Amino acid sequence: SDALRAEGLAKTYAEGDLKTHVFHDVSLSVVEGETVAILGASGAGKSTLLHLLGGLDTPTAGEVWVAGQRMNALTDAARGKLRNRALGFVYQFHHLLPEFTALENVMLPVLLDGKPVAEAASRAQVLLENVGLSHRLQHKPGELSGGERQRAAVARALVNKPACVLGDEPTGNLDERTAAHVFEQMLELNRAQKTSLVLVTHDRSLARKLDRVLELHEGRLRQLAPSEV
Ligand code: ADP
Ligand code: ADP
Repeated sequence: SDALRAEGLAKTYAEGDLKTHVFHDVSLSVVEGETVAILGASGAGKSTLLHLLGGLDTPTAGEVWVAGQRMNALTDAARGKLRNRALGFVYQFHHLLPEFTALENVMLPVLLDGKPVAEAASRAQVLLENVGLSHRLQHKPGELSGGERQRAAVARALVNKPACVLGDEPTGNLDERTAAHVFEQMLELNRAQKTSLVLVTHDRSLARKLDRVLELHEGRLRQLAPSEV
């Protein structure tokens, strides 16, 4: 079954008389556990597409299904709940809460899902161990290295065992060696949990490691042959 599906997505930004047609008629299916990269030049619309897939913005036309549920059919509250349970987000910037420890940051999505504190704590601890941060549970983001912060963000994205993780250049801020390491850990965890991944990147060497590579170009999403990546 599909972890994530989009049909006929269009997005037009309107600012006064100025209209930017980012794309129209973009469709995409991501099956359970599948990892998909979306390549594209700066301004091609990758972040816009990811926002629509994640229910953070509303398409001008088209529909998105997350874990079989149509996003547009849900109330804001139900959409927020589904987003927290069925999706994980990892951005270039970690977006961890600075006043909370790594453990507390990773516990939050579990608590928001209505689970007891003890369960949230034990799940968060397992995920942080999985990304090699068992010695950093009580550290706040400001006390972690760049790589450690992104690893904590990966743990947070995966802690609710979502259907799909949406990544927007999740290792874009790290040096090459750290980026490769964090990326490998994220992929390994995704695969272990059978969580799908949609990764927006301009880095072809990262894209090549995923099951499928698409390119967003002039408003169209096209699958690339392995020889083109
Ligand atoms: P990418 O992530 O591939 O760099 P974006 O999705 O950020 O591309 O942007 C796609 C196009 O949409 C660009 O032309 C950008 O200027 C425009 N755009 C993005 N966000 C907005 C916005 N909030 N309002 C108006 N135009 C926007
Ligand atoms: P990573 O490969 O995870 O990014 P680094 O090589 O950057 O790790 O850092 C190695 C160690 O140095 C980290 O485990 C971390 O504890 C410590 N460290 C790095 N930067 C900072 C920082 N800004 N504040 C506190 N500790 C740091």
